[in-house]
Formats: sequence, C-alpha cells, structure tokens
Amino acid sequence: MKTPTFNEFMALDRESIEPLYQVLQEVELTEGSLDSWMEGWSDLRKLVDERYAKLALATELDTTDEEAEKKYHGFLENIYPAAQAADQKLKEKLLASELVPTGMDLILKKMRTEADLFCEENLPLMTEESKLGTQYSKILGAQTIDWEGEELTLTQTKSKLQTPDRDERKQLWELMSQSQLDDRDDINQLWAKFMDIRAELASNAGYPDYRSFRWQQRLRLDYTPEDSKKFVEAIKQVAAPAATRVYEKYKSRLNIDKVRPWDLLNNQTTFSLPPIKAFDTEEEFISRVGNILNKLDPVLGGYYQTMRDNQLFDLLNRKGKGPGGFCTSFATVGLPFIFMNAAGRSADLRVLFHESGHAFHVFERINLPYHHQWRPGLEFAEVASTAMELLAEPFLAEDMGGFMSTENAARTRLLNLEEKLLFWPYMAVVVAFQHWVYENHEEGKNPASCDAKWSALVDEYMPGIDWEGYEDIKMTGWHRKLHIHQVPFYYIEYGLASLGAFQIMQNALQDQAKAIKDYRHALALGGTVTLPELYRASGANLSFDAQTLGEVVDLIEENLADLETKLA
Ligand SMILES: [Zn+2]
Repeated sequence: MKTPTFNEFMALDRESIEPLYQVLQEVELTEGSLDSWMEGWSDLRKLVDERYAKLALATELDTTDEEAEKKYHGFLENIYPAAQAADQKLKEKLLASELVPTGMDLILKKMRTEADLFCEENLPLMTEESKLGTQYSKILGAQTIDWEGEELTLTQTKSKLQTPDRDERKQLWELMSQSQLDDRDDINQLWAKFMDIRAELASNAGYPDYRSFRWQQRLRLDYTPEDSKKFVEAIKQVAAPAATRVYEKYKSRLNIDKVRPWDLLNNQTTFSLPPIKAFDTEEEFISRVGNILNKLDPVLGGYYQTMRDNQLFDLLNRKGKGPGGFCTSFATVGLPFIFMNAAGRSADLRVLFHESGHAFHVFERINLPYHHQWRPGLEFAEVASTAMELLAEPFLAEDMGGFMSTENAARTRLLNLEEKLLFWPYMAVVVAFQHWVYENHEEGKNPASCDAKWSALVDEYMPGIDWEGYEDIKMTGWHRKLHIHQVPFYYIEYGLASLGAFQIMQNALQDQAKAIKDYRHALALGGTVTLPELYRASGANLSFDAQTLGEVVDLIEENLADLETKLA
C-alpha cells in the first residue's frame, strides 16, 4: 500500500486509516524486512503527528473558529486514540521480534519500560485520574476577581500585576489570592482522590509506591529519586542563599524593607519602570531576532531564515488567539512553527529566543532515519531552548551589533538571569514537597499536613520573603502548582535543563564557535542516546551536586554584578 501524502491523510477517517496500520501489522519481521518496515511505520507516525499539530495549532490561532475546534476534537475523539492503540501494537510486534533497528537501542529500552508498566486494571484508573485533572483545571479556570467594576480572569489579573504601582499590585494580589482560597475545600477534596488513585496505580502495576511507578512512567532511566533529592539539597546550599541576595537587591531597587509576595510575580516590576519596548511590528520583531541569531551562528541563522521564507511564525497577541507561546512542528516536512503572544516588550525577545532553540532542534534532528528517534527527554529538550536564550541575549546591545541601548539590553538580560536563579529554590520546594507526599501516603493526603509541609519548605528554601498576615495563602501554595496535581514529579526537568544551559553559556564565554558546534551536534542526536550522553555532547554535564550548581550560580552572580554596572 502506498503511503498517502499529508493532504490525502488529512482527509482520511478512522476506517481508512486502520488499513495503513494493518499492512504494517501483517508484515513478517525479519532482518531483511526490518528497515523498510521501520520506514513505513515512521512515515505513518509523521502523518499522525503532523495532523495532530496542524489541527491543534488551528484552534490556538483562532479560538473562536468553531470549525477548527470541531475538527480537532473529532480527531482527538475518533482518530487519535485508535492510532495510538495501533501504534502500541506495532511497538509490541517490534519488541516480540527481538530485532533492533539501527540507532533504536535506547528507544527500544523505553518501549520495554512502557510495556512492563502496562496493566489492564490501570486503564480505568488512568481515565479517572485525567478526569480529576480536568476538574482541577475547571476550578482554576473559573477563578475571577472584580476589578474596577470589571470581572477579570486570573490570567488577565496576572497581566495587570505587572504594574509598577506597588499598592495596586498588592490589591490585585490580595483579590487574586482570595479567589484562589475560595476553592480551598474543593481542591483539598480532589487531592485526596488523586492520592488514592495514584497509590492504586502503583500497586496494580506491582510497585511498592507511587514514586517508583511514576519514575518509570516518566521514563527516567538516567537518574533516581535520590539524585533528585541531591539536586534539591544542592539548591538549598548554593542557590537559595544567592536568591536571598537577589531579594536584597529588590529591597534597594524598590526602597522597601521587606519583600512581599506581590513583589515577586514579575521581576520587571522591581524596577518601578515601565517595560522596555523592543519592537513595533511583527516584521520588526522577526528581523531583529533574526539578525542576532545570524550573528550567533550562520547555520542557525539559516534555519531561522527558512522559517521566515515559509512564514512559520505567528507572534503578536490579538483578540481570539490562544494563550502562551510554544514551538510546534510539522513532521512530514520537518519544519517548526512558533506561536506567541508578543506585545512588543523586551520579555518577548526571550520567549522568541527560547522557542527558536526548540525550532533548531527540529532542524537538527531531521537526519535521523526514524520519527521514533526524534524526541529526547524534556530534561534535554529544554536545554536546547534555554541555552538559546542565554547565548543570544548578549547580542541585544548596540555595541554587540544589536538594536537596544546598552542600558536596556543590560536590564533585559539581568531580569532573565535573576528569574532563572530564583526558579531553582521554588523548583526545590515543588520537588521536595512531592517526595514527602508520596513517601508519607496518609499524611500526604491530609490537606492540613500538606499545608504545614509546604509552608515549612518555603521557609527552608525561599527565606527572605515576608508572608506575614497571609499565612493561609502561603501554606496553600501547593494548590496553585498545576504540575503537583496534573503531572506529578514533572518539574525537576526545568531545573536540570537550566543548569545544562548555563554550562553551555559558560562554554561559549571560552569558545563561542565550539560551544555552538557542540550544541548543534547534541541537538542532532535527537533522543537516540541517554541524557548524560546528550548533556556531554552539548558540552554540559548532567549533575545533581552542589559543586556543579555552585559554579553556575557564581557565573550568574558575576554576570549580574557586571550588568548592574550598566544600569543607569
Ligand atoms: Zn521550552
């Protein structure tokens, strides 16, 4: 059977897609047939992947487009689950054959891990778990505040919280927090259900506790819960004190004697200055960033130019567009697409550099023969993106060939470095909290114990913030961290990736050309080698110890000190 083109595939319904899998299912797998079978399977996966990406993207580009939504939901309900199930059968077929296609060792190891975890009784529980996740989203999505006679969603409130007016920030923050506290009981009830389901998932699959089950489920084959705890401890030792030093700077910038929670939502506000304007039009935005990427590296600049030539950007905020920023990709043609909600501010530059890093991953991995080999773990995917922010930002200033005044470029860079530094202690709280919760099931499902634990962790890892008078809001911080509820244990990835990205930045300070060459080489490996090997290839080191983190924290603090001299 001939593989359909993408346009042909877009029009196929479930019944017409089934035979495409059936043909592969019926092939007799031998050394001789393996390569072409793998190619056929890979091509089919690309078709499904791209159909998903295009339909999802259409709904984000225009959330009011009912036709797009209908198509996307139809795909999610009818086609995608069937395609996933058929794909699973092909995985089983390959595993049963005991053949190993070239470059697929690690991917097969992951498939085997998934197969070992599979357990029929868990299917309804997983559906139940994802329904609880939907309920959680619904509760959070319905939260609003009344502001000057207008009802604002919390997303709108957070954008208002960027105001340099501190009193206004305080009022907005109080209203937002009250709206969140109003749902305290509901979230507590959901939490106990999440905990019971998760304990059951683990025991059905034959694991002693949810954490060991979840570790496998997230395919964390290269590091252990103990490594994760070691990283949390390293953060306490070296990043938390540095974060406290940043809070001290906030005090002098804002001329205050206590840092309060409403000073922390966006560090831009600590300057009491309006946000820096970075561009007016999308064209200006795209070309300014393109010039910088070109300076950084002609090959990366070339990839970006390909995106420009093919109009693979939709960057400006407009009414009816979905929130956030991301990079998606079209698998059959191997091209990325960047979606953003830019408003002309300097913070938008960072997002575009970040998403460009993800886009470069799409370009670099294209030479791997199979779709299966493309994705590394998020622990490395976020290195690709975060490193791009850190590598590109030094070129923002006029004296480096960029378009911003030295002062504005310094402030833009400083805000990003501070934010990355402050992220680690918060990440440590989120990670340590979850270790505790799943190590102590009964206490962990008791909301009062969770509140007490969270509060103690905040004091331990994030000292220097004054919560006085807002204790209830402080202790319920775990309610507001979506990952804890919906994607347990998924968070350390960002902290590890950030550490890797700073190591690449450090390399670039020694030898820019070599640092980029290694970076590109690591991206080109896709997901074919382990995380430690990917980090090593990129010139970084997947480590959890205080010494490695300490070196990076020193680097950040040196850079911050230097940038401060450039501020007016
Ligand atoms: Zn990212």
